[in-house]
Amino acid sequence: MTPLPPLDFRSDTVTQPDEAMRLAMSRAEVADDVLDHDPTMRLLEDRVAELLGVEAALWVPTGSMGNLIALTVHLRPGDRFLAPRGAHVLDSELGTAAFIAGGMPHPLECDAGPGRASPDAVRAAAGVPGPYYNLRTTLLCLENTHNSAGGSVTQPDEHALLVSAARETGLRVHLDGARLWNAAVALGLPPAALAVGVDTVQVCLSKGLGAPVGSVVAGSALFVAEARRVRKMLGGGVRQGGVLAAAGLVGLDRVDDLAQDHANAKALAKGLAELGWQVDEPETNIVLAGVPDLDVTLAGLRHLGVHAGPMSGRVRFVTHRDVGADDVVEALRRIGSAS
Ligand SMILES: *Cc1c(COP(=O)(O)O)cnc(C)c1O
Repeated sequence: MTPLPPLDFRSDTVTQPDEAMRLAMSRAEVADDVLDHDPTMRLLEDRVAELLGVEAALWVPTGSMGNLIALTVHLRPGDRFLAPRGAHVLDSELGTAAFIAGGMPHPLECDAGPGRASPDAVRAAAGVPGPYYNLRTTLLCLENTHNSAGGSVTQPDEHALLVSAARETGLRVHLDGARLWNAAVALGLPPAALAVGVDTVQVCLSKGLGAPVGSVVAGSALFVAEARRVRKMLGGGVRQGGVLAAAGLVGLDRVDDLAQDHANAKALAKGLAELGWQVDEPETNIVLAGVPDLDVTLAGLRHLGVHAGPMSGRVRFVTHRDVGADDVVEALRRIGSAS
């Protein structure tokens, strides 16, 4: 028997740059970005700053570096920062928030819903300034959509209340918006509506938007000037980066396509539920399913050529531009015929 062609639902990072994207990359106008600020990088950064409603933006190779740069600029060694439990900055960046940015992590319980802490939880954790020998809490990190909670969306009114709670208690705010595009599309709002009031925000170009490389970290012009220094310290200053930024620009033209990924995730969740799986209704492009034995299920899926991954003890399926509606139908057919 020939093996079934693989359907890759492990992540929205697995997308291949298509011909149009490769063409744009090959034709990009470039210059040494460390010395002269590459023109295509500049175009991308200006466009993202405008989309996010902030003064300035900086291209970075990865979302992890974007978050790390923001935390490094915001935190002094020993400062405590807050983030909802399961946040990427807490669990998925190998401790760099602590050992490079110098932060002391404090997870907030998600008392407002999946991946979402309440404004009261922020106030309680921030505390009030004490004498000089007290631990100092100085930063709130938000994540929209929240990856490990299954791509859950924070609404703009709830976001605003969280930002106010942070401000009242003297905290700065960083938003990990790796999938902010997905949140914006799910709500039918411009991305800027979900970044109101934050000091800094990080967005990925290499997830659902399909670029092979790249993220952007954004905020005030003052922040970006400092961020540019920290990026260089971390080895993230690149030379003719326009070839990479060009891919990001093509990705930005495709934000609306994410609606198809969301529809595909809904169809996948519905089909799995009909087959008796325990699934959460997805808000965006991530489907989490609870199973009795994670390893056995993942191996079984792999055998069917349906590739998924583990997340928070559950199976995670991510839809993206390289798995279409017909692939979802095919995945469900394979899973259904094996059960
Ligand atoms: C993917 C992701 C990142 C980091 O992106 P990389 O480019 O893989 O470093 C940060 N935050 C969240 C929520 C993510 O999903």
